[in-house]
Amino acid sequence: MSSTSLTAPKGSPSTALAPRAAFPRVRVCIDCRTLLGPKETCDGGPKHRVTSIETPTGRNALRTEVWGPPSVRRRAKQLAKAGGTSLGAGTIFEGCSGCGDCGGVALEGEFIVVVAVIALIAAAGALLYWIIAKIVEAIRAYQNRPRPNGGLTKPPSLGRRAGPSGVVLGQTNMLAPATGKECVAWALDLRNERFLGTDLMLHDAETSGFEVKLDDGTLLRVPGGRIRLEGPKKRVDRSDARPLEEFVQTISPEDDPEDEGLDAFPYDTVDEVVVRPGDRVRVFGALEREVDPDAPGGYRASNAILVPKGVPAFRVERDKGPS
Ligand SMILES: [Zn+2]
Repeated sequence: MSSTSLTAPKGSPSTALAPRAAFPRVRVCIDCRTLLGPKETCDGGPKHRVTSIETPTGRNALRTEVWGPPSVRRRAKQLAKAGGTSLGAGTIFEGCSGCGDCGGVALEGEFIVVVAVIALIAAAGALLYWIIAKIVEAIRAYQNRPRPNGGLTKPPSLGRRAGPSGVVLGQTNMLAPATGKECVAWALDLRNERFLGTDLMLHDAETSGFEVKLDDGTLLRVPGGRIRLEGPKKRVDRSDARPLEEFVQTISPEDDPEDEGLDAFPYDTVDEVVVRPGDRVRVFGALEREVDPDAPGGYRASNAILVPKGVPAFRVERDKGPS
């Protein structure tokens, strides 16, 4: 599905900056919000519920988790729009028709001044009343606004079984979506800051492929595709990560006009991890020797290359590049 590509539309000024998609984003874990490729299950195990983001049914399942079922979503939007009932500032003036029936008293100078002062005080009071009414209305609208729910659990950690460490080799040929940094791999978390604890709305990570020279001299080759990555995070505001916004829109189209404004992946900040050549990384998960039938000596050769078994998993231990 080409629409899940991270590539910006042709002719867009951000095309040159747009990272390439290393794997098609077609599924998402409802529980930890990790984006997955075709037929993939979540790294969190079979208890993590995975849904398609290619079909309206799948996307609706995700929106239900984020915003509640459609009926709740509609009600929440109505409440937010209404903003509670107005206090009706106009009622303060009711009771006086301004008919001029206030008596045929000769209006002397002092009396006019007194009336003017009273009118001023009344006007100031009315203005204050109006301001308070508006504030109350805004507070009610804020309290009634639909609130998104983040993932129930965090994406699974890399685990305690740390493997060897080494230094990343290779050429940068991709750009991190949020910071725009040249890198060989990136991971990002989209967060909705209003919700402590369950603020993670989307987790995504990929690599264009790289190699790690392990401390014992062995070479580990990481193919392009999905990756699991931990490391120092850089926080970026949503407004400073425009290419990312385009990408999120492509993977979460709006299926029902009623859901306008209720994004499947609502966020206001992004935490991003990048991997660049020269970075020290710790490898997690099982590794295996790459079998090259053409190489003399086969996989037993001393210069054999290691490859990750399953989804590659790394922790960036030190970011040596300029930040
Ligand atoms: Zn999961």
